[in-house]
Amino acid sequence: EEKVATLVERSLVLVKPDGVKRALIGTITDRIERKGIRIAAMDLRTLPRELVEEHYAEHQGKPFFEPLVSFMLSGPVVAMVIEGHRCIEAFRTLSGATDPVKAAPGTIRGDLATDVGTTVVQNLVHGSDSPASAEREIKLFFPDLA
Ligand code: ADP
Ligand code: MG
Repeated sequence: EEKVATLVERSLVLVKPDGVKRALIGTITDRIERKGIRIAAMDLRTLPRELVEEHYAEHQGKPFFEPLVSFMLSGPVVAMVIEGHRCIEAFRTLSGATDPVKAAPGTIRGDLATDVGTTVVQNLVHGSDSPASAEREIKLFFPDLA
């Protein structure tokens, strides 16, 4: 039996509080779905501080860490698990660069986010950056998911 190599991955995606406040949930999920990526789980939730600190543990000690945590606690987020062939990289490409000024037009951040000049970059979305991060972050946000 011949097998075709596929790389079906899952990734954790967040619509950050700026995206929820600006009513961009529909626009962002639409871009994900139009790209052919499946949304496997999704909900709107207010995050506990401990979860945010754990999620962004790699940034502890950086000057933007506290502003980042406060920003993530400033309102509800939409948490999703997305699924598809190479969806980790695909969603990072859809998102664009971290800095919305540098993010290419056509990307979520490039088209929709603006540098608001605070100590934290408000850039609408989070997406896991590697298979290891995706696994860790999905466990953190969706512990009941198989
Ligand atoms: P990404 O979300 O693109 O993976 P990082 O993991 O490097 O980016 O950073 C996590 C989040 O922290 C970013 O999305 C952004 O909200 C914020 N951030 C990153 N770098 C900076 C910075 N130099 N100054 C302010 N905020 C930052
Ligand atoms: Mg990151």
